[in-house]
Amino acid sequence: MITLALSKGRIFDDTLPLLRAAGIEVLEDPEKSRKLIIGTSRPDVRVVLVRATDVPTYVAHGGADLGVAGLDVLLENGEGLYRPLDLKIARCRMSVATRADFDYRAAVTQGSRIRVATKYTQTAREHFAAKGVHVDLIKLYGSMELAPLTGLADAIVDLVSTGKTLVANHLVEVEQIMEISARLVVNPASLKLRREPLRALIDAFERAVA
Ligand code: ATP
Ligand code: MG
Repeated sequence: MITLALSKGRIFDDTLPLLRAAGIEVLEDPEKSRKLIIGTSRPDVRVVLVRATDVPTYVAHGGADLGVAGLDVLLENGEGLYRPLDLKIARCRMSVATRADFDYRAAVTQGSRIRVATKYTQTAREHFAAKGVHVDLIKLYGSMELAPLTGLADAIVDLVSTGKTLVANHLVEVEQIMEISARLVVNPASLKLRREPLRALIDAFERAVA
């Protein structure tokens, strides 16, 4: 059995067409069913539904042979995974945003100090370290936009796609850190033990990526 870990929502929705192109139909809609293990038209392939941030954990520890996770998630928690393929889905960017009245340019001059709230502490730490800016990081798990508005932080590091959420909260995207997309990750031991079927599946994904 090959187990593929996916998260509900955009990762699942955007992976479906790739699976379909690989000749694999998922047998249930996770939004309608409460099942966490879903069969596919291939008797030897199943999908497990986990939180987006748990995908690397499942794959690294063998709870799944492979999985789809955003680069944002992998940079925070993706060690020990074989990362063969950019699926070019769930695309967005990792950016810094502040209130419109905050002088970001002045705040990031060498040697200064800035308070940043984010879910992506690893990525944020590396980004500001590379700029020579001292950063006080505040770890949040959601609703990051609120932090600059309430005075919790000067800036946030978050994912941006259309930018509508920022605009709705009177925030300005002041710097783009990197482009983000979802990657196919593979458990290295699975790849050794079941090279043939996994390689075939990875190749099918590769052909399906536009
Ligand atoms: P939850 O929303 O359940 O707390 P999550 O935010 O980790 O969990 P999703 O919102 O489904 O999960 O995001 C999954 C992945 O999709 C992210 O890790 C990222 O790679 C990508 N993603 C997140 N936000 C956006 C966005 N605004 N536009 C495009 N892709 C995004
Ligand atoms: Mg989300």
